[in-house]
Amino acid sequence: MRFVDFKKLTQDRIRANIKVSLSGCWEWQLYIRRNGYGQMKHDGKTVDAHRVSYECFHHEIPAGMFVCHRCDNRKCANPDHLFLGTAQDNSDDMVAKDRPRGRKPKLTDEQIQEAMSLRRQGLYYHQIAAHFGVTTMCIHNHLNAPANDNECSTRQTRASEC
Ligand SMILES: [Zn+2]
Repeated sequence: MRFVDFKKLTQDRIRANIKVSLSGCWEWQLYIRRNGYGQMKHDGKTVDAHRVSYECFHHEIPAGMFVCHRCDNRKCANPDHLFLGTAQDNSDDMVAKDRPRGRKPKLTDEQIQEAMSLRRQGLYYHQIAAHFGVTTMCIHNHLNAPANDNECSTRQTRASEC
């Protein structure tokens, strides 16, 4: 019972310190660290607000797991925008998000295999593209190109799309 109340109190504290953005993000209104994550005092410690939010709205974070943002907004503490990932997911995520605009990543051979199998399962190019976070044209090019041609640079259109 006390545990439930404690969780509820923390939830109320989080709700009191956020502002809901147009996109539904719960933007942290207290201290924001230099790396962009919101911070709060919790249990006598200074911790990441989004991690506390995850724990009090969902469940405890298993050891070694990271809390990642679907919304790409580090200030956001909306539990619906948070998901658990491994260290690897987290760094992939960061690499994906720190990528300069306009330069899409090429897919790895493994991803191309996965894309092909998604295509065989009947997914559309744009759905597969969304899954990998690349352009539809990029998927189109990959799936119609020889397996070793994943640079998307052999033609002008490929270079600009991927
Ligand atoms: Zn968000």
